[in-house]
Amino acid sequence: MKETIMDPAEAVKEIQIPLYNEILEKIKSRYQKKGGKDYEKEIKSIELVYNVINSKTLSVLKLEKLLKNLHYFYWGLIEVNYDKKKIYDSIKCIKKSRILLKKFWVNYRNEILAANNLKEMKSISREARGRMISSIKRCSKSLEYLRNLVITMSSFQGLDPYRKTLIIAGPPNSGKSTIVSAITNAKTKVAPYPFTTKDIIIGHFILDNNQVIQVIDTPGLLDRNINEMNEIERKAISALKYLDGLILFLIDPSKEAYINLNNQINIINDIKSIIRNKKIILFINKIDLLNETEIEKVEKTINEIKHELGLDTYYKISALNNKKELINLIKDIVKSNLLAS
Ligand code: GDP
Repeated sequence: MKETIMDPAEAVKEIQIPLYNEILEKIKSRYQKKGGKDYEKEIKSIELVYNVINSKTLSVLKLEKLLKNLHYFYWGLIEVNYDKKKIYDSIKCIKKSRILLKKFWVNYRNEILAANNLKEMKSISREARGRMISSIKRCSKSLEYLRNLVITMSSFQGLDPYRKTLIIAGPPNSGKSTIVSAITNAKTKVAPYPFTTKDIIIGHFILDNNQVIQVIDTPGLLDRNINEMNEIERKAISALKYLDGLILFLIDPSKEAYINLNNQINIINDIKSIIRNKKIILFINKIDLLNETEIEKVEKTINEIKHELGLDTYYKISALNNKKELINLIKDIVKSNLLAS
């Protein structure tokens, strides 16, 4: 069974990947050739190199274990900027170097013990240190790659991918944050979303049986057409497909809408093309601002393209006015669309 890692940001605090230069510095700073018999001095000098490289690269094994147990959602975020194969190749390089290092340590130590004179000992010891150091030097780029990966992972916090999630989407000004604050009980949290300048807003929606549903709003991400997004943003959005979630898409049919209705509807299509596996529930918000005829007109437009968009149904709401009704409606939607799965 997979071990559950709740917050990678917390887990990576214990992982410090050294750069090659830092390993070298550490060896130099601890290097001393005083005291003891000749052969002891030479053995100690290679033991030092062995110990420093061995202990400094131990974190790579911890990282490997962490990555093995990482939720797909976080892998989705990692793969926005990193290549999975390159990550594992980097780990492989360091693991190989650790095996070589051990071999050098054992073999050269025996060679020093068997050497005939001081000159020979010194030459064996020099060769041993050189080979140990170059075995890790070959992985300089790998160490750098993994060090950056760990820095990136230290921002993966605040979101629990093991929780059922309600993803709030819709164009700017359509009422997303109004909905989030209406249905979430306590204060919402703000978490950085890697690779974008945006923060995710995370809240919790409590059902009658006390089950907690995670609610997220991703300002500036799920509110635009695909052609307005860059590659990084598209990939970052794509990671959302790994959440066990349902998308609530809001449209603003009122005159104060930022973009026209057809363009708002196009965003649904764009989101669907990036996050294919999530059901989308449509909310026509702000109906308090529309008269009967206007509502009919909007409904006609929606009904015409409903099936094309893969929407079973839609709901007319006023997020600002009927908080209790809204909560009950979303509870029902969550129960039948998110918990039933
Ligand atoms: P977001 O940009 O999608 O997060 O939209 P907001 O939640 O910030 O709402 C934008 C504006 O619309 C705010 O001034 C809200 O008070 C207002 N608003 C939201 N829902 C409704 C609604 O149902 N009716 C009316 N009249 N105004 C609403």
